Amino acid sequence: MKNWQTKEQLIYLLTSLVNHQSITGSNAEIALAEYLQHLLAQKSYFRENPAHLQLHPLEDGRRLLTAFVKGNDSSETVILLSHFDVVGVDDYGSLKNLAFYPEELTKEMAYIKERLPEAVQADIASGDWLFGRGTMDMKAGLTLHLAMLEKAMDGEFDGNILLLSVPDEEVNSQGMMTALPVLEQLKKEENLIYNACLNGEPMFSKYPGDSHYYVYAGSIGKVLPGFYCHGKESHVGEPFAGINPNLMASFLSQELELNMKRLLKKWVMT
Ligand SMILES: [Zn+2]
Repeated sequence: MKNWQTKEQLIYLLTSLVNHQSITGSNAEIALAEYLQHLLAQKSYFRENPAHLQLHPLEDGRRLLTAFVKGNDSSETVILLSHFDVVGVDDYGSLKNLAFYPEELTKEMAYIKERLPEAVQADIASGDWLFGRGTMDMKAGLTLHLAMLEKAMDGEFDGNILLLSVPDEEVNSQGMMTALPVLEQLKKEENLIYNACLNGEPMFSKYPGDSHYYVYAGSIGKVLPGFYCHGKESHVGEPFAGINPNLMASFLSQELELNMKRLLKKWVMT
């Protein structure tokens, strides 16, 4: 039986995911991985194929989840990718205690709407928005992935679906890095071809009032370079005998931070 399809069912599922306060590094981040496994384990597909539903350990004891639904005899596979951790809630200010309770928070925001920006007031008035930490980034995406997986379990998809949900996206990407060898292993064990990977992250408006919807194509990654700038002390009377490491770092920042000249040069070269 399908129970992740209607709008009400999806709101209920999303709310239950947001209720888990899975801030990166918290115990709730571990609990949410287990909750996802618990939800999926009740489905008849995974009762019949328990090996297709797995929690994989990270080195620090956190876990990531894979749920594989085999559609037919083909190797063709689509990966549905998400993260289930969220950032902290200090920026909610006085509404902090409601951040993980979307319906209550959305009601409370309606009460105090005069204090909020006009764009937010319009969203509240539309009744189409559910506020809360992680509703957008990215438990709504995960909710939709679960809905798609449920359809696949019912034989409504011609091919295989591999749902992959990881922790630690908001901090060090340990979840995704641990997932890479897991993906390789599954590929070998099940003889899979990964045709596409759909990431359910939210999309962003390009300018205030932008009403377009975007699909981002391609790949994305992050680089975390480290630079060690070693200065040399000198007396105030001999400024040119020393060198300031902050000055060195500032030149690096100018090279790296939103430097369109660099980016354009790179595009022209490649
Ligand atoms: Zn995200």
